[in-house]
Amino acid sequence: MNNKKNYDVIIVGAGVIGCSIARELSRYKGRVLLLEKENDVSNGASKANSGIVHGGYDAKHGSLKGTFSRKGNRMFAQLDKELNFGYLECGSMVLGYNEKDLGVLKALMENGSKNRVDDLRILEHDEIVKMEPHVNPEVKYALYCPTAGVTSPYEYTIALAENAIHNGVVLKLNTEVIGIEKNEHGFTVETNQAKFEGRYVINAAGLYSDTIPRMLGLDEFSIHPRRGEYILLNKNQGHLANGVLFQTPSDKGKGILVTRTYHGNLMLGPNAQEVDDAEAVGTSLDALVYIVNTARQSVKDFDVKYTLTSFAGLRASSSRHDFIIEESIIKGFINVAGIESPGITSSPAIAVHVAGILEKSGFNLEKKESFDCNRKPIIIPKDDGFTGRVDDPDPEKNIICKCELVTEAEIVDSLHRGILIEHIDGVKRRTRCTMGRCQGMFCTPRVTKIIAREMNIDESEVTERGKGSLALPERENRMFWKKIES
Ligand SMILES: Cc1cc2nc3c(=O)[nH]c(=O)nc-3n(C[C@H](O)[C@H](O)[C@H](O)COP(=O)(O)OP(=O)(O)OC[C@H]3O[C@@H](n4cnc5c(N)ncnc54)[C@H](O)[C@@H]3O)c2cc1C
Repeated sequence: MNNKKNYDVIIVGAGVIGCSIARELSRYKGRVLLLEKENDVSNGASKANSGIVHGGYDAKHGSLKGTFSRKGNRMFAQLDKELNFGYLECGSMVLGYNEKDLGVLKALMENGSKNRVDDLRILEHDEIVKMEPHVNPEVKYALYCPTAGVTSPYEYTIALAENAIHNGVVLKLNTEVIGIEKNEHGFTVETNQAKFEGRYVINAAGLYSDTIPRMLGLDEFSIHPRRGEYILLNKNQGHLANGVLFQTPSDKGKGILVTRTYHGNLMLGPNAQEVDDAEAVGTSLDALVYIVNTARQSVKDFDVKYTLTSFAGLRASSSRHDFIIEESIIKGFINVAGIESPGITSSPAIAVHVAGILEKSGFNLEKKESFDCNRKPIIIPKDDGFTGRVDDPDPEKNIICKCELVTEAEIVDSLHRGILIEHIDGVKRRTRCTMGRCQGMFCTPRVTKIIAREMNIDESEVTERGKGSLALPERENRMFWKKIES
């Protein structure tokens, strides 16, 4: 039996980078295959990060991070108009408390202007507290970037993937690349499911983006996981930050940020800890206590009793200390590796650049007339006139998740968009059900029933999520504030 399939471009990894590239390539003629080892897109670093669309001033001028972060930032508003994933340009501040901090803020501003971030301003105390009334009153200076913003990183990634599929990209989940061979036409990519033929291979495998080139005998860089942990608080704490509040970076690190999220929660984090295991996404009590205490230097009055959850993401830190975006010495094999922060921000600009690399390597970027840049939102905003209630016979009014006001119609829609999901986590990241104050106590059985009904499977087959599930220690860490108070 011949189980080989032919594609022009095979992308390994459906995080924000693989999905951005897939969506960009879907503008052009050609067969594109996106391979993902997990059971959904956005299951790696792209689901667990700060969700900040950075202004682009702090990445070192001349680095790839510096080049792509500002370009990417400027693309987000238009992308959100097309894809409806949710983006808010709320601005950011780096807070300073003395003249030494002011020196650092000025240096950041200078680096920013080299990166073409020309809307930065240094604010003084009165203006800062007017804009951010809950900030530490001892604040003296802030570097203000009005064009920084927040997004929901997984909703963004899902939107990219859905639109790519709508425009002809083939996505294969649960498909792990286990070997690659060069041949006269391109590459044979071996997976745990089947073999595929591609003229070009793009390595966007995140934490594993050093293992993919090794399959071809290339050993040009290595990737090291660096964990960042977070605390997510209820929406009743969200008013404590109108935008993103950074601390002045020092020899000790970048500090801890306090930010509102796109959906209006308050979030604290991340720390930075080198780890050996690329799957080590648990949180630890020590780190959470450190995050709370350090975050209080920026905003004193948040109440940790309103903690919803803690989580961690792993940065794919490269031995080159920068993004790696280049065709390797093997023609047609392109690395888009070591994409740590600001990878979400940079992703749309990286995707355009990668299309250019493909073109230089001989791929014909011929525009497809049928390309449709638009994707409808899943979450329908509910205004004060929304009259939904639990068990309403109308699916558009039948509230399944009371905390986040998620309707049956939204859940059903999320399940029929071209990506096969049969787990609660997939529905959660698309609709926000189970993300509110009760963390799924009320709605999990109701969501399970809908998934089973819509996917025509038994309820017992509906899983909570794949790898990286809410592990037991994380559940315990939800109650970490009790330990701080005792
Ligand atoms: C703590 C933290 C905070 C951050 N904050 C921000 C921020 O505020 N703003 C910002 O712009 N960026 C931020 N980032 C960076 C951003 O999250 C990353 O740059 C981005 O998510 C990287 O995307 P990716 O697609 O390269 O990797 P991933 O999202 O990890 O995707 C890689 C995918 O490849 C798949 N894969 C791996 N091996 C294989 C294989 N053999 N076969 C098939 N599939 C495979 C994985 O399963 C995974 O889904 C942060 C990152 C972290 C960890």
